[in-house]
Amino acid sequence: MKRIDFRSDTCTLPSNEMRKVIFEAEVGDQGYWEDLTTLRLEEYCANLFGKESALFMPSGTMSDQVALRSWTKSGDEVILDESYHISYFQTGPSTDLGKIFLSTTRTSDGILTPDHVKNQMEVRKRGDRFPDIGLVSIENTISGQAGRIFPLEAQKELYQWCNKNHIPVHMDGERVLNACVKKNIEPHVYAMYTDSITCSFSKGLAAPFGSILMGKKSFINKARKFRKWYGGSLHQSGFMAAAALYAIKNNISRLSEDHENAFLLYENIKKDFPDLEIVVPETNIVMINIQSSNVSAKQFTNNCAENGILCHPWKSQIVRFVTHYGITKADICYASDIIKRTISDLKI
Ligand SMILES: *Cc1c(COP(=O)(O)O)cnc(C)c1O
Repeated sequence: MKRIDFRSDTCTLPSNEMRKVIFEAEVGDQGYWEDLTTLRLEEYCANLFGKESALFMPSGTMSDQVALRSWTKSGDEVILDESYHISYFQTGPSTDLGKIFLSTTRTSDGILTPDHVKNQMEVRKRGDRFPDIGLVSIENTISGQAGRIFPLEAQKELYQWCNKNHIPVHMDGERVLNACVKKNIEPHVYAMYTDSITCSFSKGLAAPFGSILMGKKSFINKARKFRKWYGGSLHQSGFMAAAALYAIKNNISRLSEDHENAFLLYENIKKDFPDLEIVVPETNIVMINIQSSNVSAKQFTNNCAENGILCHPWKSQIVRFVTHYGITKADICYASDIIKRTISDLKI
């Protein structure tokens, strides 16, 4: 049976070319600043995003957690939307390792505005006996909002407001290159309106691991210490960095294929089921809301899996499909038929 894996864009396997650059990577002990491939990757990313400095991380979660820890002091509040990855998946480590608490808003679309931040600030009094606002964190694209793009204008307005109020802004940009490709905006333009930004190599760029954290030199120096504290200081990291460097040099423009495929999947399903609640995908994520039925997301994903189509039960009645490297247009057509049959069979 044919198997198509839409669970996440982390489910890609490295190409033969990528395996070759990993095998041949020039490496050394990065504890002594001698891993040339890692140094090259960090310099390449800092240039691409127009930041002073960059730090290679084993994972996106570590990038975010190190960023939170580097920006804040114990007991601070971090303001963000509840649909963001840091809130949805990383509440535990933010509290336990970060020693901060997440002050989450519930926006309709994940687009944080100065008004949302002001409201969160006014939840309690401020001053000596109250927590300080340590950071505002935004996400682009927004994972819990079907890969929605955080509009540049909204980001700029928020950043300028935060700047005036002396609050740094972090962008969890693990999928920011999807936004760049879709909107034809250079990475350094999004990065300009942030104090720190991350980018993943192991999502749409299809490397097996890695993320990069970028910002001012003073911030990255602090982050380098916390990366060590968190166990992320790797020695011959060039084997990982080689795959990341290959990915960021070769795989950015191919993201548009994923966007086209996600839209095609959406169209194919919507054509037959116009009443079904599906957010129009802006990038590579399709989320289907089946709340109008009695069917659970788990039941839906199980039925699809029986026919070789893997997808992710995002919430109790929301199912997520992510398009990525390795999924072709023909795969979309094949999968659409099975998904539509599942929708009919389950009477959604
Ligand atoms: C995937 C993702 C992360 C975490 O990355 P990992 O490499 O899986 O740890 C963080 N933030 C966002 C927005 C993501 O999509």
